[in-house]
Amino acid sequence: MHRRHLLVLSAVSLLALLPRVRRGVAKIFEISKTEAEWKAALTPEQYAVMREEATERPWTSALLDEHRKGVFACAACDLPLYDAATKFDSGTGWPSFFDVLPNAVGKKVDDALFTTRTEVHCRRCGGHLGHVFEDGPPPTGLRYCMNGAALQFHASAGAS
Ligand SMILES: [Zn+2]
Repeated sequence: MHRRHLLVLSAVSLLALLPRVRRGVAKIFEISKTEAEWKAALTPEQYAVMREEATERPWTSALLDEHRKGVFACAACDLPLYDAATKFDSGTGWPSFFDVLPNAVGKKVDDALFTTRTEVHCRRCGGHLGHVFEDGPPPTGLRYCMNGAALQFHASAGAS
C-alpha cells in the first residue's frame, strides 16, 4: 500500500516537472553552463539580455557609433557573428545588420508580444542576441536588430 502510494506520488511530481525539463532539453548548445555559471561569467546587463531575453534600452549601446572594419562577436562565447561591413544605421537605436556570418546564429519563432517575431541567438552558446525582421536594406532585405550588450567588437588589424 505504502509503496503504491509512493509510486503515484512520484508520477505526479514527474508530471509537475515535465514542462521545465522539456524547456531545458529543447536545445543543446556546444557551450552550455548552468544559470549560476552564466551569472558569474556575464555582467548583469549581459545576463538579462542573453539569458533572460531582455531588451536593452535603445540608443544606449556604445556599438551604435562603432564604424571601423572588423567583426562583431558573441559577448558570451566570442563566436564571430556579424561582419562590420554588413552594419547599417536602421534609426532604431539598436545595432543593426543586413546579413549574418555563415553558421553563426540560430533562430526561433517568438510570439511573446502577441506578434510573431523571429528570435536570434548565438549558435554556439544559445545566448539571446535580438530579433530579425524582413524590412532591411538590399541585398538581403533583412534587419538583424541586435542588443549591443550581447555583442563585442573586434577591429581588424589596421582598421581606423
Ligand atoms: Zn555565444
